[in-house]
Amino acid sequence: MSAPLDASKLTIELTKTPSSPLPKDELVFGKTFTDHMVEVEWSKEEGWGAPKISPRHPLTLDPATVVFHYSFELFEGMKAYLDSKGEVRTFRPNKNMERMNRSAKRAALPEFDGEEFLKIIDQFLLVDKKFIPQGEGYSLYLRPTLIGTSVGLGVSKPDHALLYLIASPVGPYFGPNFKPVSLEATEYAVRAWPKGYGQYKLGANYVSSIEPQTQAAKKGHNQNLWLFGEEGYITEVGAMNVFFVFKNGDKKELVTPPLNGTILPGVTRDSTLQLARTKLSADEWIISEREITIHQVKEKAANGELLEVFGTGTAAIVSPVNNIEFRDEHIKVPTGDKFGPLTENVLEWIKSIQYGETEFDDWSRVAKKL
Ligand SMILES: *Cc1c(COP(=O)(O)O)cnc(C)c1O
Repeated sequence: MSAPLDASKLTIELTKTPSSPLPKDELVFGKTFTDHMVEVEWSKEEGWGAPKISPRHPLTLDPATVVFHYSFELFEGMKAYLDSKGEVRTFRPNKNMERMNRSAKRAALPEFDGEEFLKIIDQFLLVDKKFIPQGEGYSLYLRPTLIGTSVGLGVSKPDHALLYLIASPVGPYFGPNFKPVSLEATEYAVRAWPKGYGQYKLGANYVSSIEPQTQAAKKGHNQNLWLFGEEGYITEVGAMNVFFVFKNGDKKELVTPPLNGTILPGVTRDSTLQLARTKLSADEWIISEREITIHQVKEKAANGELLEVFGTGTAAIVSPVNNIEFRDEHIKVPTGDKFGPLTENVLEWIKSIQYGETEFDDWSRVAKKL
């Protein structure tokens, strides 16, 4: 019988050399880590082993391990927040677990009970709580990862895997020197395609995204805008989902591309849509998941109907866009150097739920000792 993931089997080994968290103003995204990590081994024979929290350490893997050869790797990106009462919260972490399991299935890696992993993550957060910086914009970035650890060069379903989690304290994505991002629309490469794997958070999706970003940076942009097809359908911005605000007759329209297989189903994207549908008046707003091309955006801008553009993702929540370069022309977003009004609202709505200041549904989970 292959065992299910079981949080009650958790063992905890604390570090003998505890480190001090860095001062808040020295935090750099993903560069420093907490003292501990989570690991759970899986094998085809035994299923999920006993989860363990232990001092953070290097992995020792044979050079023929499949993760190094065939990209048997997937990950999640989520955050833990310290609220004003000193409790530790995660934001819709069940959505990350659902997505991680979809990624696992697609990558021929083992699935697991997401609620059990969340209980383990909660214990980890309580162990490394001192590393969660307090204050607006501060959080602990969590990186759950699943890799295939079978040894051998045969291309087949891994019979060994490792589920692990590391964590990095982070400050506000946009420091005091906030500037909206400028994009280059990429035409010579696509991020994802219908029936591909762009909708899964597989490491394989990111290796090919750096060169287009580098090209965009050479022309002075911060990110690239991903297009798909002859029609120039807009799909994502860098590793974020993308939203547009248009003037549409006497209403405004919030538009994001639909989940058609070429879009990563972001938790922030889903939260933005649900909150917009709940909080914005239907007399004034249309909320759309529909296809949109770069040509339509250019035309809207020319007609004065382009109001706001922003990316969404866990790292920044929202990232305002002020310019899109497409075929040597610049599509200017009228919000210029500022957050657009809706972009700002979305940021505030989500932030206040993340830090436990506002309750919304069951979106904020408080870490409790097992
Ligand atoms: C992770 C990711 C997002 C954002 O997802 P969130 O769950 O909102 O953090 C968007 N696009 C890509 C390509 C991503 O990898």
